[in-house]
Amino acid sequence: VGFVSKYDPEIGEAIGKELARQRRNIELIASENIVSPAVMAAMGSVLTNKYAEGYPAKRYYGGCECVDIAENIAIERAKKLFGAEHVNVQPHSGAQANIAVYFALLEYGDTVLGMNLAHGGHLTHGSPVNMSGKYFKFVPYGVEDDTQVIDYDKVRSIALECKPKMIVAGASAYPRIIDFEALSKIAKEVGAYLMVDMAHIAGLVAAGEHPSPVPYADVVTTTTHKTLRGPRGGMILCKEELGAKINKAIFPGTQGGPLMHTIAAKAVCLGEALTPEFKAYQHQVVLNCKALASGLEKRGFKMVSGGSDNHLILLDLRNFDITGKELEKKLDEVYITVNKNAIPNDPQSPFITSGVRIGTPAVTTRGFKEEDMDKIAEFIYLTCTDFENKADYIRAGVQALCEKYPLYE
Ligand code: PLP
Repeated sequence: VGFVSKYDPEIGEAIGKELARQRRNIELIASENIVSPAVMAAMGSVLTNKYAEGYPAKRYYGGCECVDIAENIAIERAKKLFGAEHVNVQPHSGAQANIAVYFALLEYGDTVLGMNLAHGGHLTHGSPVNMSGKYFKFVPYGVEDDTQVIDYDKVRSIALECKPKMIVAGASAYPRIIDFEALSKIAKEVGAYLMVDMAHIAGLVAAGEHPSPVPYADVVTTTTHKTLRGPRGGMILCKEELGAKINKAIFPGTQGGPLMHTIAAKAVCLGEALTPEFKAYQHQVVLNCKALASGLEKRGFKMVSGGSDNHLILLDLRNFDITGKELEKKLDEVYITVNKNAIPNDPQSPFITSGVRIGTPAVTTRGFKEEDMDKIAEFIYLTCTDFENKADYIRAGVQALCEKYPLYE
């Protein structure tokens, strides 16, 4: 921060303020995490200077021998971590990874089965405002009204009816285990590709805390910055026979020069993910989420699907007479960060919502344990029920927890 400030005080100030905010706040956004200093250093390295269109040993630029080393290491580590046959580490983001897979395997107008955004899916899984929904005929599947989980028999009957060329699995706000084996059986039965977007759960999959989609899916996409705890970016894993098509769809299909500094940081993150410490970390992410869920439940909160098997909880706030938007704002005022999120069949608009999404990856990186999760549940409860009187008490409690687990010291 000091270094940037010396050259550019305005940007230095923005970065300094963001560091202070991250230190001060309890970060509960389910898609965020806190990278290691080594991951961050790789991102801020001289590799940002290098153009390297193409792939290792097959570049369109000279001088790529050093970045080739970094990209090859990233690929080998990802293959080892996930047991994948082919890996492309160049996608600039999760959205880019998904678009490239569609570009590789679909024709304009093809039918695709994808999880409804309003039930926890992602924009790139067929939302009408996203390129996926504009270029392909996405048919949605969702969660059941009563159980709020995916009914795989229902998915099968939709697939038999619409005969998709691809089934897209994966979600941004689904708190339960996804049965990739069941989805792959359905895909095989109807002759569709199975693409799994494991962006949210990649770290859990790497550590064996969630079943892996890799043996079942034709293609697996992911971001590298959520539970996986790497730099902002994407990655595609697939069977060997689709490797050439996927590579072509990323470059030259949908991207230009790869971000070599980010790829080096992905390699560092993947190296970290191969350690026993990372496995223990992911286990704690799940334990913390269960502890938070039980702390919320005993205070009267309802959760979509009744709880969580992974790193996130979707709170249904309707019995607390507060909207997702209001709770997000009030929690911000006491230095707890969450995002408002629609619940399945939400009576409120997506800008208001009846829910908030809460995740434990970032606080677990910071060192929070189960007993801290119960405190957080208490803070959320008091914010909903007695904000006027308890705001100072909560802020003091948040400060104590953040000082107990210092960030980037
Ligand atoms: N896929 C899923 C399931 C996601 O949750 C997200 C982001 O939240 C993405 C893809 C998109 O990733 P990015 O923001 O890197 O484009």
